[in-house]
Amino acid sequence: MREAKAKYDVFGVFAGHLERVRDLPKVLVVDDAMFMRTKASRLLTEEGYSVVEGSNGAEAVERYKSEKPDLVLMDITMPVQDGIEALKEIKAYDSDAKVIMVTALGQRSMVLEAIRAGARDFVVKPFQPDKLMEAVKKQCPSP
Ligand SMILES: [Mg+2]
Repeated sequence: MREAKAKYDVFGVFAGHLERVRDLPKVLVVDDAMFMRTKASRLLTEEGYSVVEGSNGAEAVERYKSEKPDLVLMDITMPVQDGIEALKEIKAYDSDAKVIMVTALGQRSMVLEAIRAGARDFVVKPFQPDKLMEAVKKQCPSP
């Protein structure tokens, strides 16, 4: 009996945790460089967002459809499918999609193309944590 109650308590805590995670704004972080994803994900998690990741444009489109994130942070230069193509596919699927491009220096023409394709904003890499969070919170306030 005591054991059953303990299990119930664990489940209750677990269910409560899931409930909270489900309520957090969700950000899809897409970059082919794992250290960039890790850096952004850690920061976003600390700031109260839940995070899912993708490592190329094709994964970004797939995860966007399955995870329905509130916001996407999208690298431009990636294998399989680049960030501009992924942005266009995501906007075709959901015209309300909020996408922030995370760009390297010297990608001005691609940034302009991304803005024309519906990107909300861009942040230059290597990003300053406060600059990234400022852009994120503008599109998707933290709880
Ligand atoms: Mg890249």
